[in-house]
Amino acid sequence: MKKARIGIIGGTGFSVLMENGTTIRVGTPYGPAPAITVGVVGGKGVAFLPRHGEKHTQPPHKINYRANIWALHALGVERVFATNAVGAINIKYRRGDLVVPVDFIDFTRNRVQTFYDEAPVTHIDVSEPYCPELRNILLQAAEDSGGRVWGDAVYLCTDGPRYETPAEIRMFRGLGCDVVGMTGLPEVVLARELEMCYVSFCFVTNMAAGLQERLSAELIIEDSRKLKNTLQTVLDAAIKDVSWKRSCYCSRTLEGTRV
Ligand SMILES: [Zn+2]
Repeated sequence: MKKARIGIIGGTGFSVLMENGTTIRVGTPYGPAPAITVGVVGGKGVAFLPRHGEKHTQPPHKINYRANIWALHALGVERVFATNAVGAINIKYRRGDLVVPVDFIDFTRNRVQTFYDEAPVTHIDVSEPYCPELRNILLQAAEDSGGRVWGDAVYLCTDGPRYETPAEIRMFRGLGCDVVGMTGLPEVVLARELEMCYVSFCFVTNMAAGLQERLSAELIIEDSRKLKNTLQTVLDAAIKDVSWKRSCYCSRTLEGTRV
């Protein structure tokens, strides 16, 4: 089986341009993952996984996050770049802004949150939930693209699939959240549980409820497509800059976590 050390998880409206791509299917203890394409991006071997399935048929609350992360891990992936379409809660943000979250708040209620359901009881540290090394690389590449970039954002995750109400958005803003999406959790946590580096690359497709007139999935997907070239350029540049030596703690996550 073809292997890759870098993974890209593509969100709504995003697929990646690859050289020499081969599509493969990976079975996992949690069920099948969507078809993964292994090829070359930014000069390096990359595995691309479309989060919602090849034909975008899985809604956010039905995605098999464990299967997705497990499949990438099984392919040898150590470092994950995940793209996420988000709505802006922070009124300074605008459509088209690029966001690299530094922290998250999890408001999902109906998702399996862990690989560690049994003994030994395992509590992982998420003081820095997103890999600091990948964050620096991605932020630099995003800034070089000339776009508006936010590097200190708090990501709020809801179950969906409906959008949020204006009252919910007011509450989330009060809690210090900057952007809202439906797919960032538990993906980031599951990656950390398998000692992978993970960074989220968000792009603002809309202002959240109460900050614009009406939310339309159609417009959001159209906006994602428009941003696609920018996302690809930034990811190419970031992947070029990734070194194989990991100087972050992600690869040692499980040390001292077991009771
Ligand atoms: Zn890391």
